[in-house]
Amino acid sequence: PYDVLIVGGGPAGAAAAIYAARKGIRTGLVAERFGGQVMDTVGIENFISVPYTEGPKLAASLEQHVKEYGVDIITDQRAAGIRRGELIEVPLASGAALKSKAVILATGARWRELKVPGEAEYRTKGVAYCPHCDGPFFKGKRVAVVGGGNSGIEAAIDLAGIVEHVTVLEFADSLRADEVLQRKANSMGNIDIIMSAQTTEVLGDGSKVVGMQYTDRVSGESKRLEVAGIFVQIGLVPNTEFLQGSEVELTRFGEVVIDNRGATSMAGVFAAGDATTVPYKQIIISMGAGATAALGAFDHLIRAGS
Ligand code: FAD
Repeated sequence: PYDVLIVGGGPAGAAAAIYAARKGIRTGLVAERFGGQVMDTVGIENFISVPYTEGPKLAASLEQHVKEYGVDIITDQRAAGIRRGELIEVPLASGAALKSKAVILATGARWRELKVPGEAEYRTKGVAYCPHCDGPFFKGKRVAVVGGGNSGIEAAIDLAGIVEHVTVLEFADSLRADEVLQRKANSMGNIDIIMSAQTTEVLGDGSKVVGMQYTDRVSGESKRLEVAGIFVQIGLVPNTEFLQGSEVELTRFGEVVIDNRGATSMAGVFAAGDATTVPYKQIIISMGAGATAALGAFDHLIRAGS
């Protein structure tokens, strides 16, 4: 058995593994895919002290750093639950189960996709999900934001300060975003909001996005919008389905509830990164949270007398 078992190999899991292993305790890390969302990212310009890097390069450095500490890394395996036995047990989809005195959950999240033609093809070539990350790449251009909830309107306000013009497309006939955000968006001068718009296709020229197609749900008409970027803001889904029904408390959005040491509601189980209630989902924030959870888990082990 491990002293600390980390579930997830993204920035949060990697940071937790390094912090745990540096305490000289038996550390294991199980992940479906090492690197997590970072593997799907092209340019990264906000990883402090590294002005520019690319996802696969950062993921490779993460893996190399973790490997320097003799962490037992198991990839291509999916956790299927968590339960208390003599120790804490993490059953895997393959049928085996891993045992540990403490567990750190760092399974991240995934952006909800539009699932329309062109979206997958032009991902990172104009189709974006994170305005903090990719907004500056569209400086001086016209972009669209799909989704009129809080994250969509926040994204539009954020982007409007960088890009030339933002069009927000909302599926429903009214916005779900808070009134104060709507007022701010309406006051900005370069944000248009289109209601009852169903996005139907991402249009590209073979190498990058040139526009999009949507249906006006009132008239039934199909319309075209010329944009260089499309920010999809229809939800971030935590990868926590496997925790449903366990002792680990989740919010109604599926986020793992943690305290300021990363502890969850299940004794000995900690969590970090995009899978949790942490308010902002970013690489640097996930790494800090991973470090916090590992230190929290170490404190727990000392107090539990093991
Ligand atoms: P993740 O990176 O999501 O990693 C989760 C890990 O858990 C993975 O290893 C996964 O395989 C594993 N996993 C999931 N479920 C299971 C399971 N059941 N069993 C075992 N393993 C499991 N942030 C920035 O700061 N700057 C950027 O420029 C930036 N650009 C981005 C661009 C894109 C396209 C995307 C999608 C995200 C971007 N982000 C960026 C956000 C950033 O990638 C995330 O905030 C960060 O990766 C979260 O780290 P994490 O470790 O919490 O989770």
